Amino acid sequence: MSKALQQAEFFLKKAIDFLGLGEQEYHLLRQPDRVIEVKIPVRMRDGSIRVFTGWRSQHNNALGPYKGGIRYHPDVTKEEVIALSMIMTWKNSLADLPYGGGKGGVRVNPKELAPEELEQLSRNFFRAIARVVGPDFDIPAPDVYTNPQTMAWYFDEYSKVNQGEQLFGVVTGKPKRLGGLETRIISTGYGTALSAKLAAEKLWGSLEGKTVAIQGFGNVGQYAAKYLVEWGARIVALSDSSGGIYDSRGLDVAKALEVKREKRKVTLYEGAERMVSNEELLELDVDILVPSAIEDVINEGNMKNIKAKLIVEGANGPVTNAAEEYLSGRGVVIVPDMLANAGGVITSHIEWVNNRMGGWIKEEEALQRLTEKMTSVFNNTWEFWEKESQRKVPMRIAAYALAVKRVLDAMRLRGWI
Ligand code: GLU
Repeated sequence: MSKALQQAEFFLKKAIDFLGLGEQEYHLLRQPDRVIEVKIPVRMRDGSIRVFTGWRSQHNNALGPYKGGIRYHPDVTKEEVIALSMIMTWKNSLADLPYGGGKGGVRVNPKELAPEELEQLSRNFFRAIARVVGPDFDIPAPDVYTNPQTMAWYFDEYSKVNQGEQLFGVVTGKPKRLGGLETRIISTGYGTALSAKLAAEKLWGSLEGKTVAIQGFGNVGQYAAKYLVEWGARIVALSDSSGGIYDSRGLDVAKALEVKREKRKVTLYEGAERMVSNEELLELDVDILVPSAIEDVINEGNMKNIKAKLIVEGANGPVTNAAEEYLSGRGVVIVPDMLANAGGVITSHIEWVNNRMGGWIKEEEALQRLTEKMTSVFNNTWEFWEKESQRKVPMRIAAYALAVKRVLDAMRLRGWI
């Protein structure tokens, strides 16, 4: 079984135990409602035809239409897509959105395709799944290596197969010109920064002057840094795949963002106190750690050297189960990925509502709504964690339990169980 699916089932089991439920609920929620596998032929530039495989997994729709991204990656498997669709069910439930969970994937290395091949792949994939998506049924969005342009192709293809009906709400994360919101681009990193701020306020009363190290300077890391500094934190370390920079007085984040944009490597930032490796960065004596690059970076090998009191998971799964158990036992608070990166799908919901109102919401209002929603989602999760476990279990378990409980409530109300 793939690691992703093992993890998803492991946490579902923990959540079921936490809620005092049994095997029946576990088995009801373990499997997705439906997975479709499709063949995607693409005529390549050289005239040959290559066949790709894609999946859409619809895990649960008790709370509303299935919702979640579509990723393009050479290692995607059916099992991974199923696991990710299950995680979307919990993420959307935790975020209190009227959505169920879904996820899609195409097994392809998009970097090897020419732009017109990528367009054909995207259109052909969406046509193949067109019968099982829709604005009130299943609403895809961007994920790994898909972006607003991909969503524009999906939307266009969907309009074609629906006799020209312009159903903007079938996908979110679209370009602004086609009903998307610019806020969607910053939303995940913004939400991560906001989770860090809210957690800091719970732990220390304020974020002001707290030191932060951020691993990973992609879309999430960049916006997380931008907002954390704006809200008074001191960013002392930043890194990307080229390595990291450290300055105890605080780095100039605006300058680092410019260096990253222009030269692609954050290590070309001049004037930092010293360079640090990605491994060292995690062990720095800081208040807050925001791992926003890849999974499993905090593990049994380095957990004893972690000094931060608050870890906010900007990436998916950066802390292993063993490390989480150990660090939580030492009182370290770990804001789980499912909560820390919910800003993306929350903004997708704002976009979807806006599409259905014919384009009513302004960007400032969208950001305001994201802020309010993220704050209430964070506070509700934190309160549930305190009330139900006195913070004795990792926050992740409480988040899963709250999410699973809401899905089961909806299933009960609908008479499914
Ligand atoms: N792919 C993103 C996620 O995993 C966004 C999903 C969405 O906006 O529907 O949360």
